[in-house]
Order: sequence, then C-alpha cells, then structure tokens
Amino acid sequence: MDAAGVKAAVLVEALPYIRRFAGKVVVVKYGGNALAGTSEHDALALFAEDIVLMRLVGMRPVVVHGGGPQISEMMARLGKQTEFVDGLRVTDAETVGIARMVLKGQVNPQLVAAINVHGNFAVGVSGVDGGLIRAEARDPALGYVGDVTSIDPGVLHGLLDDEFIPVIATIGSDETGQAYNINADTVAGRIAEALQAEKLVYLTDIEGLRRDVGDAASLIRQADADELDALVADGTIAGGMIPKVASCTHAVRHGVHNAHILDGRIAHVLLLEIFTDSGIGTMIRGNQEAAR
Ligand code: ADP
Ligand code: MG
Repeated sequence: MDAAGVKAAVLVEALPYIRRFAGKVVVVKYGGNALAGTSEHDALALFAEDIVLMRLVGMRPVVVHGGGPQISEMMARLGKQTEFVDGLRVTDAETVGIARMVLKGQVNPQLVAAINVHGNFAVGVSGVDGGLIRAEARDPALGYVGDVTSIDPGVLHGLLDDEFIPVIATIGSDETGQAYNINADTVAGRIAEALQAEKLVYLTDIEGLRRDVGDAASLIRQADADELDALVADGTIAGGMIPKVASCTHAVRHGVHNAHILDGRIAHVLLLEIFTDSGIGTMIRGNQEAAR
C-alpha cells in the first residue's frame, strides 16, 4: 500500500470506533509525570491534539489533572519545607494554598490553552466551582489532604451540553469552604462514575500494569476488577499505581464500561487506544463490557 493508501486504511479502521463512541463521555487523567515528546510543551501539544480530535468526532472528553511535581517545585522555590508525621506528608494551610495556586493558576490554564490552540473548546474548573468536589479531611493530623465525600456533576453536564471540554483541577472544599488537595487519580474515577462514562483512562509513565514491576515483559493486557483486587492484596500493585487501580475497579463496578492504564510517554496513545484495533496498555473490563 502507498502512503496515501495507509492513511485511508487508518481512517477506515477508525470508523466503527467513531460510530460506537459518538456522544460518549471519556474521562482522561493526565499525570504530572506522563510526558510524551521531548519537552513539557510538546507533551501538552500532543495530548491536546488527541483530546480535540476525540471531541471533533463527537465524543465528550473530560480532562482531570494532578500536578505533584509542579507543586513540589513551587514549594522548593518558596523555600517551604514539607513536614512529615509518621512518614506522611502534612498539608498545612500554606501548603494547600500553594497547591491551589499551582493547580488552578498554572497547570490548569496550561492544559486549557494547549487545547484551545485548536479552537475554543476547553474550560478550566476546579472542584470548588459549582460545588463539583465536596471533600473532608482524611486525617486531621495530616492537615488539608482531602477524601472525596461527594461529586455534584451539574457544572460538568452544563459544560458538556454546551459542547465544551471540562478541564478539572483537583481541589475540593468542605461545607465551610475550606479547600483540600485531593488525589487526582481518585477524583478522575469518581467523576467518571458520576458521569457514567464510557471510559476512564489514566495516562502514566509506564506501559500499563505489570505482573512483576521490574519486568517490562509482564504487561497485563486485560483484567477484570476481581483479578485486580487480588493483585492489590498480594502487593503486586504498589505506590502510585494503588489509587489508579482502586479507582478503576470501583468505577467499573459502578457503571463505567471500561478503564484503561496507558503509557502517556507514547505519542498519541489516546488515539491508538480509542480508534485502532491494536489493544494498548492495560484494559480493565467492566460488567457491561462482558455482557456486550
Ligand atoms: P502518575 O504521575 O501517572 O500518577 P505514579 O508514579 O504515581 O505516576 O504511578 C505510576 C508508577 O506506579 C509506575 O511508574 C510504577 O513505578 C508504579 N507501579 C507500582 N506497581 C506497579 C505495577 N504492578 N505495574 C506497573 N506500575 C507499577
Ligand atoms: Mg501518582
């Protein structure tokens, strides 16, 4: 096949996926470490192209982001020391203020701007806007690290109905208006559930779940929630993977069709997952998927 023929074949391969996913919500968590391309700018630009393409073929993408590395960098720049209690990081009032400033003032508008290079699609919100994320302290001794108590997706429905792409910074608030920093992996899962999303997708810095963290050949291509529970229980899933896997299993048990853990370092990995026949990364099957 000549080059033009290959391009045509790729577009034709995408057709059934475009039909199947038209109008469907896909929640994508963009990781602080998930970088394709040679610079942060390149990574954002590649990611933005994927999100805009999804939107232009009729899907309803929703972006959730963290910003741990950027928060740490700002803390260092401000000369702010992190306190630990029993090995756990304490988020005091000043630290949650810095987190809010970095997430909503820096990381969020970067993502929004990268998407809007292609048209006026993205709108940035934090979990405080429209009361999207209600939170409570995980442990008062650790300060303002929050757990999600509830999600009110009203503001997201409004944006999606107006054909915008919501980009969400994961700051939540309690009933007194106190802000909390919340794990972005957890928020992505809860938002996918609240929107009854077709897919929940985590972009991270590894090719997917491994049966042996040290062995790249041990990639798990597909699993269901029960299989993943066992891998968490036996310690196979560790560190930063735990909140992702816990969110994936919870989400597919609460109405989300499938969850995916993908390598954000691969250029256009979202397009490869959604629009091609070649399975990529790890797919966590939901019950609806099994019944299909
Ligand atoms: P992100 O910025 O995407 O949240 P994290 O560092 O928090 O990234 O989580 C991804 C990391 O989880 C991987 O780089 C890997 O070191 C670790 N990890 C732990 N257990 C596993 C596993 N079983 N399979 C794959 N990665 C794992
Ligand atoms: Mg993480």
